Amino acid sequence: MVGGCTFTPQTMSDTLVAAQRLVMHLADKGDMAEAMHILKGEMVGSFCFTFLTDEGSVYAARDPRGFRPLVLGHHRETNTYMVASESCALGAVGAHLERDIEPGELVKMSKGGISSQQFANENPHAHCAFEYTYFAHPSSIMEGINIYAARKRIGQFLAKKFPIANADVVVPVPDSARPAALGYAQELGLSFEEGLLKDRYSKKGSMRSFIEPYQSDRVEINKGIIPIREVVEDKHVIVVDDSIVRGTSSAEIIKTLRMVGASKVSLVITYPPIRYPCYAGIDFPSQEELIAYQHGAAEESNATIGSRVSQVIGADYVAYNDTVNLAKAIGMPEEELCFTCSTGNYATLGIRPAFKSRIQMKGE
Ligand code: SF4
Repeated sequence: MVGGCTFTPQTMSDTLVAAQRLVMHLADKGDMAEAMHILKGEMVGSFCFTFLTDEGSVYAARDPRGFRPLVLGHHRETNTYMVASESCALGAVGAHLERDIEPGELVKMSKGGISSQQFANENPHAHCAFEYTYFAHPSSIMEGINIYAARKRIGQFLAKKFPIANADVVVPVPDSARPAALGYAQELGLSFEEGLLKDRYSKKGSMRSFIEPYQSDRVEINKGIIPIREVVEDKHVIVVDDSIVRGTSSAEIIKTLRMVGASKVSLVITYPPIRYPCYAGIDFPSQEELIAYQHGAAEESNATIGSRVSQVIGADYVAYNDTVNLAKAIGMPEEELCFTCSTGNYATLGIRPAFKSRIQMKGE
């Protein structure tokens, strides 16, 4: 079991603290599910734990709201059960997806077989909506929904909501927006083209720019996206992207498209305006850095925020998705999804966090 290790403030991490507390509760109660139940009451945020006991059992536990995915897989040839954060990992080792581990569920795998207990039942669930638009691999299945199919549907729903007139071509920002751009283009009968490609020789090409803490690094990653002049020159280009966080990437992409001759650039964004920090496991910037927070108030419409953001990043038009439309396209009730970074409703977290400034977060 994780635990029994020397605990000092210097070695402190949230996982280590949780493991220490779990060991303590287990010693006290003698039952893993009861220990997990007490532990979840001591924590705020999201978690997916896997741990190994001295007797050789493997446990997996998912937080009661189900913020992050956790799946159970099975390898038939060796009759081996396994857990992974996403089902795409199972195929890589020749296993198949059995099912999601449910929010608040504790699964035990041992030589005696597999067993399950609920250590908590909390409703509504709060599955991260951003997984469906951005984080998860397109081949993954979460809560019974294939990510690729969901992203394509998101594009189709956006096309019905924002049918941009007189556009010539739909271009995705690689890689996560591809299925949505395809869905958008097909729905409107527009041509879909790869007008932006990642520079395969760029050392940071595969990284996610909004997570990079320093502005210089974020710009370097964006330079790794290369426009194709032949696709966009003299055209009204609809760029489909999964989100606008700081606006850094979007501004850079629009600039490069104009440099190679795009006559008009409209942005269609699969995620609603991001105005609040995430306290459920995603390393977002501080609130003061979020472009939709800087240029929009809580009571303002997405259209108003989109109009202001478009001026700041140099786009002709910005269309943001909304939570109702996005939940329908994902195929899940809106109340079962987390949209906190857009709505600022932290109810499923159980607390209203005190936001930190950039300096407090990173010590810059
Ligand atoms: S706040 Fe946003 S990124 Fe964080 S879990 Fe909720 S939807 Fe996902």
